[in-house]
Order: sequence, then structure tokens, then C-alpha cells
Amino acid sequence: MSTAGKDVKPPKPLPSPNSDFYQLAETLPPEELATLRQVRSFMESKVAPIINKYWVEDSFPFELLPAFKELNLGGLGMQGYGCRGGSKLLTGLVAMEMARTDGSFATFFGVHSGLAMGSIYATGSEEQKQKWLPPMARLEKIGCFGLTEPLVGSGTSGGLTTTAKKEGDTWVLNGQKKWIGNSPWCDISIIWARDLADNQVKAFIVENKTTPGFSVEKIQNKFGLKVVQNGLITMKDVRVPEENHLQAGKTFRDTARVLRQTRYLVGWEATGCQMGAFENTVKYAQERLQFGRPIGSFQLIQDLLSKMLANVTACQCVVVRAGQLDDQGKLTDAQAALSKSFTTAKCRETVAWGREIFGGNGLSIDYNIGRFFTDAEAFISYEGTTQMQNLILGKAITGLSAFVH
Ligand SMILES: Cc1cc2nc3c(=O)[nH]c(=O)nc-3n(C[C@H](O)[C@H](O)[C@H](O)COP(=O)(O)OP(=O)(O)OC[C@H]3O[C@@H](n4cnc5c(N)ncnc54)[C@H](O)[C@@H]3O)c2cc1C
Repeated sequence: MSTAGKDVKPPKPLPSPNSDFYQLAETLPPEELATLRQVRSFMESKVAPIINKYWVEDSFPFELLPAFKELNLGGLGMQGYGCRGGSKLLTGLVAMEMARTDGSFATFFGVHSGLAMGSIYATGSEEQKQKWLPPMARLEKIGCFGLTEPLVGSGTSGGLTTTAKKEGDTWVLNGQKKWIGNSPWCDISIIWARDLADNQVKAFIVENKTTPGFSVEKIQNKFGLKVVQNGLITMKDVRVPEENHLQAGKTFRDTARVLRQTRYLVGWEATGCQMGAFENTVKYAQERLQFGRPIGSFQLIQDLLSKMLANVTACQCVVVRAGQLDDQGKLTDAQAALSKSFTTAKCRETVAWGREIFGGNGLSIDYNIGRFFTDAEAFISYEGTTQMQNLILGKAITGLSAFVH
């Protein structure tokens, strides 16, 4: 039958993938929203087009650093000393936004700004902050954070084997640090070591490229967060002047202060990773045809997409509230631990559903989902595994410690 003369309805445009389902962006002040938009534009226009190439090569995209420096984000959430400032909420939102495109890039920045600068900000003297933070904020000097060792990960609070021995005005460091992000190429390492005199954990700034006895070997064959370069640091009689001993870092409690901030930043990254996975998956489900229809029209696919969005939204609510509590100075270790353990567990679930929806193409890095899928595994383990977070949480719930001392 001819349709001549009848109106043929054009197909309805499908909605763009939207991972901000509860409109959290609307709750932000305009300046913070503008920063987020800038970060999104940088991640989408500069990082997204090249990141899979670097993922495959297992190398870091140094070509991105000049444009990234222009965003002026170094020291986000820290006040003074040339730092960007801004709220803790904004710091988290930026980490989430970066991870929405790439978890490795978010981690590179989190290690530098959150862990390395954060250690100096939290445990350095006034002079140390004046000296080290401004060039780090300008990203002229990049830092790393060396806590984990080849034989000690979860048990670092009581078991660090890297030693520090004071000889006059100099400290002598010996030991190894494993998995240290940025360390194969960065300028400054924050090294946590046990003082042989009082058995307490202390922090030291080591200048990677000029300190005799300090060497870094890149960790090869990683399959998650491949673009971040991780290293095995070896220190043999590394001599560090007293002026590089972080003066307010006297015990492991000070390390824990830094980790409280950064472990819940991983929660933001795990949330961003899910947003990226969700958006990529929705687009694919709208376009991929099977049985003559987009797979997104099948009930079983819509069930998975709905569960993915529910995870994304629940995680966003958790981290946003944690950010608000942090801004009020109220975030507890247990609340930070819940943010990390909940969001990373949900992240593993979300990216796996996404990968499934991509079918065979989900196994190819060219579709991005494989990158989100493997990065989720790193979020589960670094900055305190799920089990460690749940021990902190379990103690807060029951009042009983299940930690082994
Ligand atoms: C990609 C990546 C980047 C990293 N970046 C850094 C970095 O920049 N700086 C840094 O210092 N470290 C870094 N790490 C190290 C990371 O923090 C550690 O891997 C992590 O803390 C776990 O330590 P581990 O690997 O030694 O595991 P282990 O401590 O050996 O744990 C193995 C398993 O045993 C479980 N377990 C251990 N003790 C208990 C217990 N008491 N009860 C129940 N379960 C337990 C753990 O949960 C885990 O499942 C990074 C790791 C990765 C993978």
C-alpha cells in the first residue's frame, strides 16, 4: 500500500545517556559547576580521544600535561601555598568527573594532589609547606606516596619494614615500596618509614632524580589503571636531611589522617567510573541492533541498565554526603571507609553488567568498557582493601575491634 500523501512520523530522537539522574549538579554553586564543566571538556576533548592508545602501550600521556596545567587544579581542597582551594565536595566531584572518562588519569592526579601534596599539607611544618606546595600546585613538580611494601600492604599500621635512622641532621632510609603510583617518572616521593629509635612511623620527602641510593623499577604487566605508572622503589642508605622530615608526622595516626581523606576520594573515582561505564553502555544499547531492533529495547537489557543507574545514583548520594560532612569537618574514619567499600563494590557490579551488554565487543578495549571493567578491580584494592574498610566500619558498628595487632 502506498504511503503517498500520508504523514510519515520521523523516528523519535532517543535521550542522551545521563548519569546525573538525581540532578546533583543543580545543587552546586555556579563557580563549582563551572570548574566541573571545564574538567569535563578537558577530559572529553583531550583525554578520551587518545587514552586507549596509552592504555594499550601501558604508558603515561605526558602530552596532556601542558593543557592539564592550565586548568589550575593542583592542591584542590587545600587553602594557601599556591593551592587551588575550593571545597572538599568540589575536590571529590572533580575526581568523579575525571574518572567518568578515565580512572587512570583521575588516579595520577589523586596520587599527586591528594596523597603527595595532602601529606605535606597535613603533616609538614609551615616552612615545608611554603617550600614544596607551590611548585607542586603548579604541577612543576609531581609527587607520589610510598606506603605499601612488597611484604606489607593491609598491615602497614604495625608492620612497616622500611627503616629510618637518624644520624646527626640526616636520616638514613632503607627498604622497598611497592605499587607506588607516578613513582617511575615523578620528582618527589613521600616515603613512610619506621624510626628505629622510637618505632613510630614518620614521613620523609625524597627527591627521586637526585638522591643517591634511591631507584625505581616500573611494575610491568598490570591490567587495571594501566595508564598510571606504578613502581617498585628501592632505598639503599638513602640520606635525607632533617629539613625533609615532615615535622608534624609523628606516628601512624598522622598517616591515617591523610588516608581518611584519600580513601573516600577513591569512592568518588569508583562512582565516576560507573558513570562512564553507564553512559557508554546506554549509547551502545541504543545503537546496537539484534533481531532487527536496538538491544536497548529488550526487557532484560533494560533491567541491567536500570540496576546500573541505581548503583550510580546510590553511590553519588553516598559520596556527596561524605563530601558535605568532610567540608563540615565531621567525616569520620568509618564514614570514609563506608564510602570506599560501598562504591567500589557497586562499581565492580556496574561495570560487569555494562561489559555484559557489550557482548563480544565488551572484550575489546576499543569500546572503552573494558577499561572501566579492569579499573574497577584496582579501586577495590588500593588505599585499603574492601576487607580493611569493613574492619574499620565493623568496629564502628559493634564497638569491637576485629583488627589483628
Ligand atoms: C593500581 C594500584 C595502585 C596503587 N598505588 C599505591 C600508591 O600510590 N602508594 C601506595 O603506598 N600503595 C599503592 N598501592 C598498594 C595498595 O594500597 C595495596 O595493594 C593494598 O593496600 C593492599 O595491600 P596488599 O596488596 O599488600 O594486599 P594484602 O594486604 O596482602 O591483602 C591480600 C588480601 O588479604 C586481605 N586481608 C589482609 N588482612 C586481612 C584481615 N586482617 N582480615 C581480612 N582480610 C585481610 C585483603 O583484604 C586482601 O583481600 C596500589 C595498588 C594498586 C593495585
